[in-house]
Amino acid sequence: TFDVLVVGGGPAGAAAAIYAARKGIRTGIVAERFGGQVMDTLAIENFISVKETEGPKLVMALEEHVKQYEVDVMNLQRAVKLVPGDVHEVQLENGAALKARTVILATGARWREMNVPGEKEFRGKGVAYCPHCDGPLFKGKRVAVVGGGNSGVEAAIDLAGVVAHVTVLEFADSLKADAVLQKKLASLPNVEVIKNAQTLEVTGTDKVNGLVYKDRASGEEKRVELEGIFVQIGLLPNTDFLKGAVELSRFGEIIVDAKGQTSVPGVFGAGDCTTVPYKQIIIAMGEGAKASLSAFDHLIRVSAP
Ligand code: FAD
Repeated sequence: TFDVLVVGGGPAGAAAAIYAARKGIRTGIVAERFGGQVMDTLAIENFISVKETEGPKLVMALEEHVKQYEVDVMNLQRAVKLVPGDVHEVQLENGAALKARTVILATGARWREMNVPGEKEFRGKGVAYCPHCDGPLFKGKRVAVVGGGNSGVEAAIDLAGVVAHVTVLEFADSLKADAVLQKKLASLPNVEVIKNAQTLEVTGTDKVNGLVYKDRASGEEKRVELEGIFVQIGLLPNTDFLKGAVELSRFGEIIVDAKGQTSVPGVFGAGDCTTVPYKQIIIAMGEGAKASLSAFDHLIRVSAP
């Protein structure tokens, strides 16, 4: 039986495992793919104290740090069910069942993709998902934001202060963002909003040079020349396997309190899979550390030695 079992091997999970192991308690980490989203990241410039790094490099450092401690690392293992109890059980796809006094859920999230030609090819070469991360790379350039919900319009307002021009493409005939955001957006001189726009293709050579969309009102295909595309059509938490086990928000995020506690005592959440806002590496790490300290606190209060 683990004292702390971490599910997820991204920045949140790695931080949680290190903090737990440093307490000298039995710690395990199960990860479908150690490193998580960081594995798919090219340049990282906002991991404070490290001016510039690359995803796989940071993942190697995370792994080395975890391996400094007595952590039972179970990589390439997918959790398929959580059964809460006095001792919780995490069931794996391979049929194994792990027992743990406390569980930290850190399964992260993934950006919803447009699934159009060019999107995958130009990922990291003009196609981006995170304005906080990649906005400054497009300083003085032209970008599009695909998606006119709150995150799309927030991204457009944010980017308008950094880039030369922003085109917002919304599939429906109206923006879905809050009125106050729409008003702010409308006040910006370097933003154009195109509604009824269905993105068809990302074009480019070695880098993105444009985007083709269909005007859903006229059926006409049109092209926008630009250097960057921010896809803002949703972030999907990896929490399907937790339905019914812990309380989730309507977006599927694990609901946690200020200590990372979920609706189930002894089960904690950290990082992109939770309701904690702003999905960033440094935030996920902090949340992982916090959840781990909360798990320790829980153990010394309620668990028999
Ligand atoms: P994740 O990194 O998503 O890790 C989740 C972990 O859980 C993985 O190990 C995964 O395999 C595992 N997992 C999921 N489901 C299961 C399951 N059922 N069973 C077992 N394991 C499971 N942030 C920045 O701060 N700066 C940047 O420059 C930056 N750039 C980014 C670029 C890209 C392309 C992307 C996609 C994201 C970027 N981010 C950036 C965001 C950042 O990567 C995330 O905020 C961060 O990785 C979240 O950490 P996490 O540990 O919560 O989740």
